[in-house]
Amino acid sequence: MKIFNSLNELIFPPRCISCRELGQSLCISCRKSWVCHPYRSNVRHGKEFSLSVTSSIVYSPIAQKVLLAAKESDIKMADIFVSDAITYAIRNAFKEMPRDILIDSLIPIPSRKSAARKRGRQFISDMTAPAAAEFGIPIISPISHSRVVRDQTGLHFEQRWNNLHGAFVVASNVENPHYALLVDDLVTTGATLLEAARALSYAGITVVGAVTAVVAQPVRLRD
Ligand SMILES: [Zn+2]
Repeated sequence: MKIFNSLNELIFPPRCISCRELGQSLCISCRKSWVCHPYRSNVRHGKEFSLSVTSSIVYSPIAQKVLLAAKESDIKMADIFVSDAITYAIRNAFKEMPRDILIDSLIPIPSRKSAARKRGRQFISDMTAPAAAEFGIPIISPISHSRVVRDQTGLHFEQRWNNLHGAFVVASNVENPHYALLVDDLVTTGATLLEAARALSYAGITVVGAVTAVVAQPVRLRD
């Protein structure tokens, strides 16, 4: 197998996911934009809804390419970068959690059905699986999209909030966990995470926080 892999690498030597330089999955220069540190942001809508988000990587064009390579091009090394960043964020979210709160489920933000069909998988759920195994916490998937939403690119928070309002439904036959952590690949305004938390709270599920691999507006914590 080792010989086969070496042969394979000789025929198809790895290229940098971001800049396509030959040699490594992320070259030394691009790797500088994909380094895990603990970041914490608070997303909120009014006084009613707020959520603490723990993330690992600061958004950059390189980080965006890694996310896309995993999500849309199914590049295995990109999968590993993203799932490692999610595991790292979950580990840091646990560190910041009050002692009396025990997370009993991980809830990935689902892709739209058409996207999941095209990719052949629920991306965030797949990216969360290594963390679920490491921490012994089950992944549950009670959320689904209730309708098609507008592409969020370029929308500010209030527009996203309105665009997403009522966009998720929560399966009623789910056995309600006590404390859940939401998982997504990227947080920008936080509107998606807040809407998911809102829908889950109406279904009796307590979302105690969220984690993402990448964050657009980070506040760094001590390592
Ligand atoms: Zn590179």
